[in-house]
Formats: sequence, C-alpha cells, structure tokens
Amino acid sequence: MIIQKDFPLSQILWYEIGGKAQYLLEVEKAEDVEEALDFVEKNKIQRVLVVGLGSNIIITDDYFQGAVIRIVQHQSCHSRERGRPHEVHSALVVNPLGTIKGEFITVFAGTTLDNLITFSLVNNLTGLEWAGGLPGTVGAGIRGNVGAFGKEIKDNLFSVDVIKRKNKGYIHKTLKKSDLHFSYRNSLVKENKNLIIISATFKLQPANPQTLALVEKIYKTNINYREKHHPLEYPTCGSVFKNISESDHVQKIISIWPDVKELVNTKWHGKVSMGYIIGRLGFSGYRIGNMQVSQKHNNFIVNLGAGKARDVITIIKKIQNKVHETFGFLPEVEVEIVK
Ligand SMILES: Cc1cc2nc3c(=O)[nH]c(=O)nc-3n(C[C@H](O)[C@H](O)[C@H](O)COP(=O)(O)OP(=O)(O)OC[C@H]3O[C@@H](n4cnc5c(N)ncnc54)[C@H](O)[C@@H]3O)c2cc1C
Repeated sequence: MIIQKDFPLSQILWYEIGGKAQYLLEVEKAEDVEEALDFVEKNKIQRVLVVGLGSNIIITDDYFQGAVIRIVQHQSCHSRERGRPHEVHSALVVNPLGTIKGEFITVFAGTTLDNLITFSLVNNLTGLEWAGGLPGTVGAGIRGNVGAFGKEIKDNLFSVDVIKRKNKGYIHKTLKKSDLHFSYRNSLVKENKNLIIISATFKLQPANPQTLALVEKIYKTNINYREKHHPLEYPTCGSVFKNISESDHVQKIISIWPDVKELVNTKWHGKVSMGYIIGRLGFSGYRIGNMQVSQKHNNFIVNLGAGKARDVITIIKKIQNKVHETFGFLPEVEVEIVK
C-alpha cells in the first residue's frame, strides 16, 4: 500500500475534479485493503471513501478530511489512461490477472473491466464483451451493476468477496449473486456503505475459435461505438442521470410526448433515455463556468478544463428542476456526488 498526504484528487479521478484528500491510500491487491483499514483505525480516521478509476464520482472542491482508499490495479497511470481498452493479446493480458477454474474467473476488485474482458478472451471465455470500453473497475462495476446494450454485469457474476467494516474492525464475507439484490444500477453494496468488494468470480461461457473471433469483433465494435458516441476527448463522469425505468414515470413521459412510445419499445429496452430528455428540454451545450452538457451525448457533462464541482452540481439541479416542472418527478442521479 502507498500512503500519500494532502493529495489532489483531481489528479487521479476520471473527471479531473476534486479538492485535496488528507490521505490517499493506494491499494493494488486484495490484502492491501485490510492494511488500509488498519491504517484508518490506528489513525482514528473518521471518514473513508473507496474509489476505483473515479469514472462515476463527483467530489467537491473542498478538502476531504479523511482517507480515500483507491482500489485499482497498476496505479501508476492516471485513471483516464488506465481505463483505456488495450488490444486483446497485449502484454497486459499475458501477465495473469486472476485465476481460472473451468468457466470461472476470479479477479481482484481493482482490475479494470477491459482487462477482465481481454483476460477472459485469451482464455477462450466469453460473456462480458458488451462492456468493451466501459471505463471502471470490477468492484465499482458490481456495486453499481453497470450495464450497456441491454446487458448488466450481474448476468455473469457468480460471487464476490467483501470486507464489511464494523464499528471496530472488519470481517470477511463471500456473497453469492443472489445475496447482492441486484436491480437497475443498484446492488446491496451500493445500499450498504460498509461493504468493500475485494475480489469477484464470474461464470463465463467457453467458446470455440470461430465464436471467439466473433466475440472479439463485438468487443471491438462496442469500443468503437463509445468512441463515436461518447465525448471521450473530455473528462466526464459518465451518464449523470439514470435512464427513466419506473413504469409510472415512463407512462407520464409518453402521455406528454406520445412520439417517444416507439423509441421506448424499439430502442431503449423499455426505459426513456435521459440524454434524449435533456436534449429535448433544451440543455444540449448548456454551460456554467467550464462545465458543459455535451452536445455529443446529452447525459454527459464535460469538463472543458479546470472545471469546478459546484458548477456541475448547479447544472444537475437545473436539469432536475426542469424535468420536475415538465413531468412531475425528479430524475435520479446515477453518479455518486461526494460532499
Ligand atoms: C465515458 C464513460 C462512459 C460510461 N459508460 C457507462 C455505461 O455504459 N454503463 C454504465 O453502467 N456506466 C458507465 N459509466 C460509468 C462508470 O464507468 C461506472 O459507473 C464504473 O463502474 C465506475 O467505475 P470506477 O472504478 O471508476 O468507480 P468510481 O467512480 O471510482 O466509484 C464509483 C462508486 O463505486 C464505489 N466503489 C469503487 N470501488 C469499490 C469497491 N471495490 N467496493 C465497493 N465500492 C466501490 C465508490 O465508492 C463509488 O461510490 C461510464 C463512465 C464514463 C466516464
């Protein structure tokens, strides 16, 4: 574990926003998480925040009085560099990332999703290719049940090893998929801040060379899709809002904008895209300071350079108010805002 004092979080978080943290504890393997928690207890640190690549976090510009535990494999790079997908068969993959038993792969929570996918593909296992280019670590991905193209990380998960923090000390637990109560962008780990994922086991599908070639193609197509449709040229925190999935809310939107019904059924897997709503409500390109609603994808708010957390939070509130005024409900924020 590496300990850094008064560390500027903007240097390690994907959004390149955030004040200094009293302590940054960099953890590169499962056992280091215990070491970090022992450090927290020994130094009577009250506030603890776990981060991965920081691709789904907004941290305010204030001083963070406490410890940030960064669970990421190969920490030396900046998060946006670290999160970039690597070629299948690259050197990173040859270096074993985890253990394989038949169709089961177990990896450290700080492994990036792309490294997990490439590791599984070189071992003739498939099932996670939908997440190609989705920036983030395995631990955070499970916590938020990340998804894309109609798939979710829970679909291939078998179990996770967690550390549960107690008032004093901590305990280890293995949780089965069914224990994690997954739903849309949610899980037990998100509901219970005392749980830290340290490793995860996935059950994948063995594939023959023809299927593998096809799956590698899908994986690369998904990466290319993101490069084309997401504003990857700027720091962002991914989709700011969850898409609208609650059926009352979906029906309310359809009652006001009847033409979206077809898109709900044919394109959005029964939900309403928040990017679409934001654009239609006139926020595309809306800017405060150096934070701007992306014109490439309206559910992303880009940092044009040295942007401030307070500006992005103001934009979020303005969008929420407008949605409430139009449809009578508040859209749920997907990104974690740490005050
Ligand atoms: C360009 C871009 C595109 C994106 N596309 C998608 C998409 O298609 N689908 C999607 O679902 N998301 C998407 N996201 C959001 C983001 O990739 C995911 O939420 C991802 O899981 C975040 O991973 P991270 O390691 O960066 O987590 P962080 O942002 O560092 O942390 C997110 C949350 O997880 C917690 N956490 C981190 N590690 C652990 C752990 N080991 N144990 C317990 N809690 C932990 C943190 O405390 C925090 O609350 C996108 C983001 C970006 C920037």
